[in-house]
Amino acid sequence: GCPMDILTSSVPWSDFKLGPNGLIPVIVQDFKTDEVLMLAYMNEQAFEDTLKTGKMHYYSRSRQTQWMKGETSGHLQYVKSLKLDCDNDTILAKVHQIGPACHTGSHNCFFQTLAEKDYKETNPLKVFEDVYAVIKDRKIHPKEGSYTNYLFDKGIDKILKKVGEECTEIVIAAKNPDPEEIKYEISDFLYHAMVLMVQKGVTWEEITEELANR
Ligand code: AMP
Ligand code: ZN
Ligand code: ZN
Ligand code: ZN
Repeated sequence: GCPMDILTSSVPWSDFKLGPNGLIPVIVQDFKTDEVLMLAYMNEQAFEDTLKTGKMHYYSRSRQTQWMKGETSGHLQYVKSLKLDCDNDTILAKVHQIGPACHTGSHNCFFQTLAEKDYKETNPLKVFEDVYAVIKDRKIHPKEGSYTNYLFDKGIDKILKKVGEECTEIVIAAKNPDPEEIKYEISDFLYHAMVLMVQKGVTWEEITEELANR
């Protein structure tokens, strides 16, 4: 890239507290959502190449070689910030991630749940993204008895009819003194709106970007 792209670190590599293998772990976060995408390791060369190019470079312990993230997949990571933790032994990178971060095709690497206690994801952004991902997956891999697949099979007119109906039901529910009703109807509407989004290829990122720009 152009020389303006070159980043300089405020702490030199020699001040990093490295593991016995001479590597430093890097936690990688999406710069917009703070989603934890992956963990990888850097050697000095990978760190320097990352600063020089503005694209994340790592050292693969299994392949014992340096690699630029996305060099084969195209799923590059553009550096937004690099931070060092309190005791200099871990880097936190915020990146603009192109495509999925994981080589399995998963958006992030942490999809194997080991343990969970009294916990349900209620972060709105995550819930919307998760439901959207399930709807999109149904479109690609139809599932027997799936209502979502029923809608896709019926086609755009059926989806639009449902979106319209659910809108009307929100209006009716809002007049109902029972506060539960409007919760159900808005949920129904949002689900059907997401089916429409998937059908039309509109992503949540496009919607939230539009809203943020207003
Ligand atoms: P990529 O950098 O996406 O072109 O992938 C090249 C190779 O790097 C893959 O075949 C994996 O061996 C490795 N790799 C890529 N992404 C990850 C990741 N998130 N975690 C671990 N290894 C990865
Ligand atoms: Zn600390
Ligand atoms: Zn530390
Ligand atoms: Zn992975």
